[in-house]
Amino acid sequence: MKSASALDTPMMRQYLSIKETQKEAVLFYRMGDFYELFLDDAERVAPLLDLTLTSRDKGKPDAIPMCGVPVHSADGYVKRLAELGYRVAICEQVETPSATGGRRLLRREVVEVITPGLVGDPAGIEAHVEVAVVAIAVSSSGEGWGLATLDASTGDFRTTCVPEGPEAEGRVGEELQRIQPREVLLGADRRASSWASWEEALPGAALTVIDDEAFDPSRVSVCPDGFDPDAHGNPEMCAAAGVLSYLDRNQPAARESTPRLRSYRLGDSLVLDAATRTHLELFANTEDGSRQHTLIDLLDESCTPLGSRRLARWLRYPLRESGPVRERQDGVAVLADGDRMRERLRAALAPVRDLERGLARAIRPNATPRDVAALRDSLAAIPGIAAELASSTAEADLASVVEQPTVLAAPVPLDALVEKLQDALVEDPPVVHRGSRGAGETGYIRTGFRPELDEVREGAAKGREWIANLEAQERERTGISALKVRFHPVHGYSLEVPKTQQSKVPEHYERKQTLASVERFTTEGLREIESDVMGASERAASMEREIFEGLRREVVGEVDAVREVADRIGDLDALASLAHVARREAWVRPEVHAGESLEIRGGRHPVVESILRSRGADDFVPNDCELDPGSIQVCLLTGPNMSGKSTYLRQVALIALMAQVGSWVPAESARVGAIDRIFTRVGASDRLSRGESTFMVEMRETAEILGQASRRSLVLLDEIGRGTSTYDGLAIAWAVLEYLHDTPGLQPRTLFATHFHELIDLGQAKERVRNAHFEAREWGDDVVFLRRLVPGGASRSYGIQVARLAGLPSSVIDRAAQILKSLESSAPGAKSAEPDPAHPQLSFELDERAAVPPPAHEEILEELRKTDPNRTAPLDALTLVARWREILDREDPS
Ligand code: ADP
Repeated sequence: MKSASALDTPMMRQYLSIKETQKEAVLFYRMGDFYELFLDDAERVAPLLDLTLTSRDKGKPDAIPMCGVPVHSADGYVKRLAELGYRVAICEQVETPSATGGRRLLRREVVEVITPGLVGDPAGIEAHVEVAVVAIAVSSSGEGWGLATLDASTGDFRTTCVPEGPEAEGRVGEELQRIQPREVLLGADRRASSWASWEEALPGAALTVIDDEAFDPSRVSVCPDGFDPDAHGNPEMCAAAGVLSYLDRNQPAARESTPRLRSYRLGDSLVLDAATRTHLELFANTEDGSRQHTLIDLLDESCTPLGSRRLARWLRYPLRESGPVRERQDGVAVLADGDRMRERLRAALAPVRDLERGLARAIRPNATPRDVAALRDSLAAIPGIAAELASSTAEADLASVVEQPTVLAAPVPLDALVEKLQDALVEDPPVVHRGSRGAGETGYIRTGFRPELDEVREGAAKGREWIANLEAQERERTGISALKVRFHPVHGYSLEVPKTQQSKVPEHYERKQTLASVERFTTEGLREIESDVMGASERAASMEREIFEGLRREVVGEVDAVREVADRIGDLDALASLAHVARREAWVRPEVHAGESLEIRGGRHPVVESILRSRGADDFVPNDCELDPGSIQVCLLTGPNMSGKSTYLRQVALIALMAQVGSWVPAESARVGAIDRIFTRVGASDRLSRGESTFMVEMRETAEILGQASRRSLVLLDEIGRGTSTYDGLAIAWAVLEYLHDTPGLQPRTLFATHFHELIDLGQAKERVRNAHFEAREWGDDVVFLRRLVPGGASRSYGIQVARLAGLPSSVIDRAAQILKSLESSAPGAKSAEPDPAHPQLSFELDERAAVPPPAHEEILEELRKTDPNRTAPLDALTLVARWREILDREDPS
């Protein structure tokens, strides 16, 4: 604790009493042109923001640690802290020094608190990123869990409900993963413990515990559209109340523009669990986590951030029913039909820029003229869009759609508001700093908008002209050739005379200031004019501020209409982007229907194909897919590593997903019976860093699939059972396949890729399982992959050839070939015996084989199997070989 003396000043007492109300936040305390941080806040934050830690009353033994940031660059610092999970309380001076006459301390108040999920000013947030805060409420009447999500930077506010049940908590976690909130609000009640189970899957999300009363809808002070203050038992309204009261407490200014609340049903969208989103590389690639080479990167050619965010939303929430898909497709169809008109429409969309975030900035109480002018310019683009739409839909070949699609409805222009803003604000307003709209900052209101303002300005201009002429006049009159008229923001106007010419200064000059080499004077005339000019400028500035505040309020009054427009434009831009990409890639419109089948002719993996093409190779091999729970329910894929199995699995899932998003797909044709969930177990996702073995993760994901799939699901299983011993793995893969096939009511469409060739027999025996494999040709000792899917099980796995391709030393390859030969010749006639899939003992008979290889060989072989040549660095390969030699030497020292 600091001794009383340094803290016991009026200012520090004020600081401490405000800090007392903001214990959890970092307090930015306004002092003139700076925000200052003191004591613990300063010590904690200075290193994070790279600020110099100094101290107040430097030199004294009890100096107070402090650091500060200039007001005009504070936004960036605040944002950094919010991203790091901090809360920042902005404390402003709420009166001007002139109000106190400098006699006492200025009054200060916390005007807003920036939290990890409520960023306040949205400037500088990446266009496609949502900044969400989610409140979770549990209804006391057992109805279920309510989730309310607000992105205050865009005004997107929505709720959904997860019905109570044994899986409810998991479902909530799943939805949280889909939302990826920055901040989660939970009541202090018993359910806060759920956080532990969700936290792991939400890296970077901050948990904030709020009062249970905050979830009471009747206590909410502002009720936006769609919010019902009387719905006490409704978990969605309770959650929305949590968000609203949190917003109200931390950013009270947002009260006058609370966004409209919309409710959505989880059942309306195709569910992708987090593992599937990751495996399919929808938003981030698995290499470096960036957006490069992801589906969104390929699909997003939108012209505005609104379209970009809308597409991402569509990809997160693909449609589940065929009807809504077809509506969206109709919109894409019209826009895909005419290339020239689509380009014209896209050109008309571009000037809208980020209308949602522009609106959020323009309605903040400390909005600047530039913010409002930017909004004006965005809104001014709407009539152009409406005109393009009208002509384009008239021009389009509507044969592909039955009637004018409603998804292409034009946004309604806000003519009156735009006109007003155009009349009032100059084309390109000067920079006026946020929160420092001081007297000198004028000139953003157009001449002619308000005659009184013009008069005041004219008066000031005349005065300034008089002063401007003064220099020449006085030089002539006094003969002081170096006389200058100076202006200083504090001391005002003066006549400056060098000391060398002092003798010529006339009597009536009054000394004002003495500097090293000059003296400054004023005269009675100058004083009078100066006070007129200053008075007039100040009056002009305050009139401008007043007019501007009126404009800002008018924008606030139209906030719903602007949001409506932004919403429309988001849709249009996203549709135009899908149409643009469909044409560029020469994709086809898939047929999405209510049936259960999935038929793809000539399908390609959109991203892999585009990567190949960017490397100058245009040789992606297309493949078909046919699945139907009633006939070909399971396609069992065997074949060597590197033959293209994983790519194929992903490609089928991506095509189905894209179809349900409304996009065209990379295929010759596609018919997709609408899917309710896509499950994938693809590749070995390594979560060892979290202390789980790959096998454990794999089994947990498999368990989820078996527990939650339905007849309308699409299941992709790649190499399940790989992470354990061969027999364990085979046994598990076998049982899983049987379960998916035999369980009545389950029977999801399934692609099952495996390196266990023993399963081929199962494929032959089960009614709705088809074997297929990727063709490979032997070429001397090498193998060539043709990437072509053909019926029937693979005969060989070419593991040794792949190992050779990967560059394993030839001595190892030769020895492996030798061992393999001895294994094959010693195995009982597996393929000759009648397969009895119910009793897979033939695979297990390996145990009792006569020519069991020596244990060292088994060990080496097992390692060889586990080695993925694609992921083995040359040095590691050498280490492996060295180890194998060691094992062999141990076994057979000769
Ligand atoms: P597997 O799962 O059988 O080990 P992958 O699916 O990982 O094989 O494919 C191996 C490589 O082959 C990938 O790098 C991919 O680029 C390429 N590939 C896969 N499918 C095709 C295809 N249909 N046409 C061209 N190249 C393909």
